[in-house]
Amino acid sequence: MEHNEIKKLISSYHEGVLNSSQKRQVEEHIAACNECRNEFEEMRKFEEVMDKMELKQPPQEMWQVYWSSVYNRLERRIGWIFLSIGAIILLFFGGYKMVEGIIQDPTIPLLLKFGILAVLAGLVVLLVSIGRERIFVRKRERYKEVMK
Ligand SMILES: [Zn+2]
Repeated sequence: MEHNEIKKLISSYHEGVLNSSQKRQVEEHIAACNECRNEFEEMRKFEEVMDKMELKQPPQEMWQVYWSSVYNRLERRIGWIFLSIGAIILLFFGGYKMVEGIIQDPTIPLLLKFGILAVLAGLVVLLVSIGRERIFVRKRERYKEVMK
């Protein structure tokens, strides 16, 4: 094959689109022709650099996934914080008003007052307990993530 035709095939060779007989022709020609061999080598080095650059791509994607997950977690945590603050305010304010009303109401028997207060106290204890459990579970999940 002609020197010029081979030259055209060199880039195709590195793209991996040549059949085996074309590949053999290129290999035979570059063994005899300095100019084509140089071009072949340049092309090979270029491809190597490109491969290395492609290898650097995955960590960048990993960072994107990392940051989007951090953002999601932050968003969810902020949601939880607002929800908790609101619930606590409503609970305490509502609870306080309720307790105040119950205690000051002379028509409610003392035993019923005690019963309602006991139910409210039980609810508060349960809520605190569930809240503590949530925090504990979240800490353990974070620990598991670190272990991975
Ligand atoms: Zn040549």
